[in-house]
Amino acid sequence: MEINRFKYKNKKYLTHSRVHYLWAINELNEKNGYARATDVASLLCVSRSAVSIALSHLKSLNLVVEELPEHFLKLTILGKKQLTNIDKNFTILSRFFRNVLNLDEETATKQACLIEHLLLDEVAKKINQYLETPPLPQKNIDSKPQKTGKKNPYV
Ligand SMILES: [Zn+2]
Repeated sequence: MEINRFKYKNKKYLTHSRVHYLWAINELNEKNGYARATDVASLLCVSRSAVSIALSHLKSLNLVVEELPEHFLKLTILGKKQLTNIDKNFTILSRFFRNVLNLDEETATKQACLIEHLLLDEVAKKINQYLETPPLPQKNIDSKPQKTGKKNPYV
């Protein structure tokens, strides 16, 4: 393995599980108007201590704030922006997996969900461009070059 690959390690990166905390906080706020740590724990089926570890990470990344005195959790503007972006990536990736790789719905969704937060903007853009471009007409690989009988005028 090339040593350069290690330099992409970055504490700022979200993990798959942390992204789900963002989804949970967003969903609870939309549904109930508030999100408490206990609600997040029960929605994600994790312990309270797991939630508090995740929350301190998400707060340090400036993605989540805790409003006092109620301890209501809110996504910051940055948190919302990230989530919108991740949602977009999910759509692009699952379309790619279904339409280009012909994966079944479940596998496509699962794989997209696992890597949605890791997609670089420029790569997402390229995949999207690829999906929006109509496929080239299929070339018949068996066909031989046509002989016209004419000599190549450029020789
Ligand atoms: Zn996921």
